[in-house]
Amino acid sequence: MEAREPSSLAEELELVPPELRSNFENKSSSIIPLYLSSNTSHSASSYTRTVYVTFHKTFEKKVVSMDFSESTAFEDISRRARSLFPGSDWRIFSGNPYHSNVEIHSSSEIYSYIKRTTICGFEYLVINLEPIVEPHHTNSEFYAKCDSCGTQIAGRRYKCTMCADFDICERCEAKSVHLQHAMLRISTGLRTEIPGYITMNAPSYVFGETRPHLREEVTIRHLEGETLQ
Ligand SMILES: [Zn+2]
Ligand SMILES: [Zn+2]
Repeated sequence: MEAREPSSLAEELELVPPELRSNFENKSSSIIPLYLSSNTSHSASSYTRTVYVTFHKTFEKKVVSMDFSESTAFEDISRRARSLFPGSDWRIFSGNPYHSNVEIHSSSEIYSYIKRTTICGFEYLVINLEPIVEPHHTNSEFYAKCDSCGTQIAGRRYKCTMCADFDICERCEAKSVHLQHAMLRISTGLRTEIPGYITMNAPSYVFGETRPHLREEVTIRHLEGETLQ
């Protein structure tokens, strides 16, 4: 089921960026559809459409005006989603959080969901964002790169207890990389306990503020240790 189309001026205004609403507020439903001459523009090299895009993210909603070209609409939407809602990459679905959605993967699909309102005559698009879940959120695998060979670490890793956020993979450890410092062997997932007397006494750079999942793991282990006492 698709989201219902707006059936009154008030509902159409909900689809207009707040700063542009005054341009339409004097319209009445008795006026025939107005096709704004500024709504599309042609030139030798490009064809763009001005579309009012409503981004839904769970209980948040932001409405912005965007100029699309058919070849880059999907990338433009993805980039705008990241700037409106930082901290994640987003999957893009048609519709809003209250109706079942279809995931959108291309600019031509974006174009197929653009509609025009009947009273004010502007083009609009309503989309819903879902965060792309990063691999480390599954807890099945560490999301870290080997600081020696650069590959994604799958399985055990070895963390230096002295360097700043320095991890190496099993293969590099077997080749005696970084023998000069003591290393912690950490297994996949949450199976390896790191005692609080190591994490608490370590300089903060050792366990890396840039990798919150490890901080989380350490905190979980720390809390579990406390509840056992
Ligand atoms: Zn390596
Ligand atoms: Zn080291």
